Amino acid sequence: MKCMFCKGIMEETTTIHAVEVDGRIIIIKNVPCKKCTLCGEIVYSGVTLKKLEQLINAVKNALTEVAIVNYTDKVA
Ligand SMILES: [Zn+2]
Repeated sequence: MKCMFCKGIMEETTTIHAVEVDGRIIIIKNVPCKKCTLCGEIVYSGVTLKKLEQLINAVKNALTEVAIVNYTDKVA
């Protein structure tokens, strides 16, 4: 797979995905992704996006301002 921006090589790696939902910050660690070795662009697969959505839905009702979850712990 090549980067759609710069045609660089996309490498399998993991990243930290952070989103803001209703004023809360949700940080998900160890998210599998492909990352461009040239420009650093990150692409998630459709399956990963779905799991991220599920994780965010599961965590967003927590009463903490900042939630940190581990992708690999929650998605077995
Ligand atoms: Zn690139």
